[in-house]
Amino acid sequence: QCAAVCPVGAITEKDAIADVWAALDDPKKHVVVHTAPAIRAALGECFGMPAGSRVTGKMVTALRRLGFDKVFDTNFAADLTIMEEGFELIKRLTDAVRDKKAVALPQFTSCCPGWINFAETFYPKSLPYLSSCKSPMQMEGPLIKTWYAQKAGIDPKDIVVVSVMPCTAKKHEANRPEMVDSGFKDTDYVLTTRELGKMVTAAGIDFVNLPDGRADELAGESTGAADIFANSGGVMEAALRTAYEVITGRELPFPSLHVASIQGLDGIKEAAFKLDGCKPEFSFLEGVTVKVLVAHGLGNAHKVCKKLEAGDLAEYQFVEIMTCPGGCIGGGGQPRMTDDNVRRARIAAIYSEDESRTLRKSHENPEIKRIYAEFLGEPLGHKSHHLLHTTYTPRQ
Ligand code: SF4
Repeated sequence: QCAAVCPVGAITEKDAIADVWAALDDPKKHVVVHTAPAIRAALGECFGMPAGSRVTGKMVTALRRLGFDKVFDTNFAADLTIMEEGFELIKRLTDAVRDKKAVALPQFTSCCPGWINFAETFYPKSLPYLSSCKSPMQMEGPLIKTWYAQKAGIDPKDIVVVSVMPCTAKKHEANRPEMVDSGFKDTDYVLTTRELGKMVTAAGIDFVNLPDGRADELAGESTGAADIFANSGGVMEAALRTAYEVITGRELPFPSLHVASIQGLDGIKEAAFKLDGCKPEFSFLEGVTVKVLVAHGLGNAHKVCKKLEAGDLAEYQFVEIMTCPGGCIGGGGQPRMTDDNVRRARIAAIYSEDESRTLRKSHENPEIKRIYAEFLGEPLGHKSHHLLHTTYTPRQ
């Protein structure tokens, strides 16, 4: 289940296991780990558990037993991404609808490094449409080396940030030269789900029988909106849960907060609804029909980019693109084999994790409220721009 990507073993991702063991063995280093939303629905498969087993608590306990000094959760930064990306969308809509400025719309999501590489290489004209938000991984890293370092009284040069991702493209993303906004390399090492599985096995940990643990405070609390980042359509649904409520003061009017038409494994999906009862400060959006589009797989990304180039996306406000079939639950760093039955089981596990939560909207996360009050100021503020946003580069 945890074999390398290439069936003949000729091509493998660059393994970070030895580097992470070395950091854990170094008494001068304070090693912090955080895990992406999709890991908790797939890691159990490395230990013979059925696809779709939810192992969030066992994963946290296993990471503590491996020796990490702090166990945080990338889901915290996924909630933060929604705050920044949702407010960025509202700003673009304000500029376009109220102030009649020329603005790049629809806004495209930017949390998938495979999609970013694809857009930079093949569709450089799409770059102004991409949200300037970094991915959750690249938001969590600089916050650990600034906000957490200050709170814990630890010199950031002694902190090693390890992220566990469903994704081989994340290894490249962590090495982008601009990802040093903390003053240090924001993410030191990226482990895939498979690599974490190998470390747990090598340490002799009986994963299946572990008790549940909880992520550490400060950058470990999250909501159901963050869980669903793992699924195609999830980033969009999470953003709509917050943006709709900011604009109208009411909950997104869909059963159980789910936008059903953008869920599932169809390659390109859509949703549309009308804004009514907007708050006074958003009265200029009254009656606007919001149209969103979700695509996964690069063949579908290609189709969407062609539509953008042809001017056929003018009536849409927001587009989500994920590289892997089904989104991150089907990522290249996840346990093999991944077919549609496995994807469906993992997707169901993620929605069930979301529905099990008391808090299911990013703006309700108490740690998110705290970090804005004590450190960041406000969404899209000066500090957020420095630590949480980025730029893109056309590439040959
Ligand atoms: Fe990585 Fe695939 Fe998720 Fe994109 S969709 S972030 S490439 S796992």
